[in-house]
Amino acid sequence: MAYDVMSDKASEFISDEEIEASLEEARSKASDPETVRFLIAKAREFRGLTHREAAVLTYVTDPQLLEEMFQAAREIKEHIYGDRIVMFAPLYLSDHCVNECRYCGYHASSDMERKRLTDEEIAAEVEALEKMGHKRLALEMGEHPQMNTMEYLLHAIDVIYNLKFDNGAIRRVNVNIAATTEENFRRLKEAGIGTYILFQETYHYPTYDYMHKGGPKKNYEYHTTAHDRAMQAGIDDVGLGVLYGLYDWHYDLVGQIMHAEHLDQKFGVGPHTISMLRIRDAGDVKKSSFPNAVSDDDYKKIVAIIRMAVPYTGMILSTREGGEYRDSVIALGISQVSAGSQTGVGGYTICTQKPQFEIEDHRTPLEMTTELMKSGYIPSFCTACYREGRTGDRFMQLAKNGQIGNVCGANALLTLTEYAEDYGDEEFKRTAEALVSEKISAIPNEKIRAKAASYVERIKDGERDFRF
Ligand code: SF4
Ligand code: SF4
Repeated sequence: MAYDVMSDKASEFISDEEIEASLEEARSKASDPETVRFLIAKAREFRGLTHREAAVLTYVTDPQLLEEMFQAAREIKEHIYGDRIVMFAPLYLSDHCVNECRYCGYHASSDMERKRLTDEEIAAEVEALEKMGHKRLALEMGEHPQMNTMEYLLHAIDVIYNLKFDNGAIRRVNVNIAATTEENFRRLKEAGIGTYILFQETYHYPTYDYMHKGGPKKNYEYHTTAHDRAMQAGIDDVGLGVLYGLYDWHYDLVGQIMHAEHLDQKFGVGPHTISMLRIRDAGDVKKSSFPNAVSDDDYKKIVAIIRMAVPYTGMILSTREGGEYRDSVIALGISQVSAGSQTGVGGYTICTQKPQFEIEDHRTPLEMTTELMKSGYIPSFCTACYREGRTGDRFMQLAKNGQIGNVCGANALLTLTEYAEDYGDEEFKRTAEALVSEKISAIPNEKIRAKAASYVERIKDGERDFRF
């Protein structure tokens, strides 16, 4: 199919011919250090990379050039997002599913017991998450026309937003559900969701078709155009994700950048987030049966290239990745991490259900935030942009002119202070206080510096929810 970035058809904006041509051209260019260094220099100016350019970097193997790429990715992350890392947690509402995805433990023919949370169970889960300090959730549920209806989801969102606890409330609910209609996206927008997230899994059509044995998700066209419908319905922030390891990662990386280009050019706003995922054991699904499973080294390369190619997009890492390795990946471009996650329905309280996939990082948010501070990051529970209406192109403008880092940094300090006051032990409070005071004195803008310092004092006196 001819490539057309503006097309409404998935087969045209993710043209297989264009991806293959990009990879073919890339194989010859990647061995030329001058070309590779030119691309690294372009990325270091925060101008991003086209899918053709990103393709070249996927084939770089020279250790020196790879190190230069990693260094560029670290610099870009630091420049755009500073040293804050935003924390969130998934909340599984229902594991009913009619799809037959070969890589997922929830596939319809699995003989597992299924469960959908009641209002009371949702409240108990949210309370458990709130006790860990979470303010930002990603709602997850399988696809099931009778059990997981839009009415059920909208009601669950309403329940969550109306829960208030001693230390506050959930302030931002992102949603990761199956592709749906424009009308349903409009309803989700009205319900006040943050980002609509949908993982593509793979852009390679024959593999997509094979991996989805049955169910509505098998429809590649409908699935791949879901973000378009969400944006047409007024949801400004959408999130992408490839499940790396289903097909050749070089192909999927190029497809993912093309998808980002499509959204950027068609709607004037690229993806708000890209979730970084790779195949893991999931119930009766074994990673070892996926010949394209991605090695640790290649995975780092993928993260670095995406950081270089789409500098203004938040990158999310889940607890699928193990602790120490996860930290080294974070440095290459990750801006959001999940912590203390349970990947099963009722996992924070009743714990009767099978998880969707195995997690490797079992650290609690308190342990995770402590580690992040030790590594020089500011753990952040910020939800300010969405609540200040800084979404879509308003957000992108700030990101592109380099100003988002200023508000992110200050908000991270405020939310870390809240977190330390409400959830930290004495040692955590001391560490956080020292970090906050050091970082506040380094805020270049005098007005923001003074305001942040006064907000921190007021938080310590019991006030909450300040934001820039
Ligand atoms: Fe269902 Fe999602 Fe699992 Fe597929 S990946 S089986 S749609 S829960
Ligand atoms: Fe995210 Fe906006 Fe907060 Fe920065 S200021 S951490 S971009 S919500």
